[in-house]
Amino acid sequence: MNRKLLLSLVKKYESPLYVYDADKIEAQYKRMTNAFSSVKNLKINYAVKALPNINVLKLFNSLNAGLDTVSVQEVQLGLKAGFNPKDIIFTPNGVSLEEIEQAMELGVQVNIDNLSILEQFGQKYPKVPVCVRMNPHIMAGGHSKISVGHIDSKFGISIHQLPHIHRVVENTGMLITGIHMHTGSDIYDVDAFLRATEILFNAGATLKNLESIDFGSGFKVPYKEGDIQTDIEELGEKLSKRFNKFCKDVGKDLTLMFEPGKFLVSEAGKFLVNVNVVKQTTSTVFASVDSGMNHLIRPMFYDAYHHIENISNPSGKERFYTVVGYICETDTFGANRRISEITEGDVLCFNNAGAYCFSMSSNYNSRYRPAEVLVKNGKDYLIRQRETIEDLLRGQELIEF
Ligand SMILES: *Cc1c(COP(=O)(O)O)cnc(C)c1O
Repeated sequence: MNRKLLLSLVKKYESPLYVYDADKIEAQYKRMTNAFSSVKNLKINYAVKALPNINVLKLFNSLNAGLDTVSVQEVQLGLKAGFNPKDIIFTPNGVSLEEIEQAMELGVQVNIDNLSILEQFGQKYPKVPVCVRMNPHIMAGGHSKISVGHIDSKFGISIHQLPHIHRVVENTGMLITGIHMHTGSDIYDVDAFLRATEILFNAGATLKNLESIDFGSGFKVPYKEGDIQTDIEELGEKLSKRFNKFCKDVGKDLTLMFEPGKFLVSEAGKFLVNVNVVKQTTSTVFASVDSGMNHLIRPMFYDAYHHIENISNPSGKERFYTVVGYICETDTFGANRRISEITEGDVLCFNNAGAYCFSMSSNYNSRYRPAEVLVKNGKDYLIRQRETIEDLLRGQELIEF
């Protein structure tokens, strides 16, 4: 999506605006399936929470992807988008047995991440096949808030508790057909990831009803020039070989599964905002935009870096700006960034705005959430309207005083 197109979309749909490139999403999906093309049964389950717009889900359905869901509401969205329940995996953490039962009744694959629920579920539904989420205790990335595989993590059943899983299986007669891990975002190091997969292969070999191995996600995409990213082609080559050998060893054609969110949609998204005010202080030039942590919280929440460009003045001379929001909090999008000269009214573009941007947005300060546009084959589709005052009031009862 070029600058002219993005500027015309802001004119047409107004600012702030999320824009997604369907062709880029498709290209990332194909990159992944190509990387693992030597595996006979491969399933890529898109992690809904990254970008849950129903049209994005429909796009993935048209590509033959499955879905990875973390709430029963995400399951419902997936079904509304037309997915076969068999192509949806439910991978929540810390949810009630009731929510797991609801997902089961909707016909989706249930993935259980603790021994308490595993034992209760196994006693009630010994015939329903389940997958178990393991924690291999391998730190694949460096960020403590988004790494979920370390020893103190709340996610998954510790690999050291495998004997207890076997005891539950013996006691209940339940069927464990899948084994899963998701070590969290940011795999920089393919070899560290492969070490974690070895742990899962070893555990999987002890499960006699095994049909699938799910290695989750955490694939890293570049956020700025020179960023390390997961080398998906290298991973595909090494892990496919290992997986095919494992299938041979156990004498079964298992299914290899992944559940990427960020890898598939991050780079496809752009977030477009207008500059309201350029303000000089004693030490800084601030550019205040018509958005804030209510629309894009990753920089404030995770210290995430989102590259910011002034698409209204791409060849202007570069100056240093701190780009901030209009929320009554310190909502800094980027401090001390080199950006081509900004005039009030210019449109700034945030890159990597596809994953965990709109989906983490809120109405804080009673602001409307932005509109979303999908561009496919050069045509733009409004896939979510900008909110209105009715959206802010919906569900609130007016009482008389
Ligand atoms: C969030 C999540 C994913 C997707 O992670 P990305 O880093 O966006 O690829 C996959 N699996 C589970 C269980 C998740 O919670």
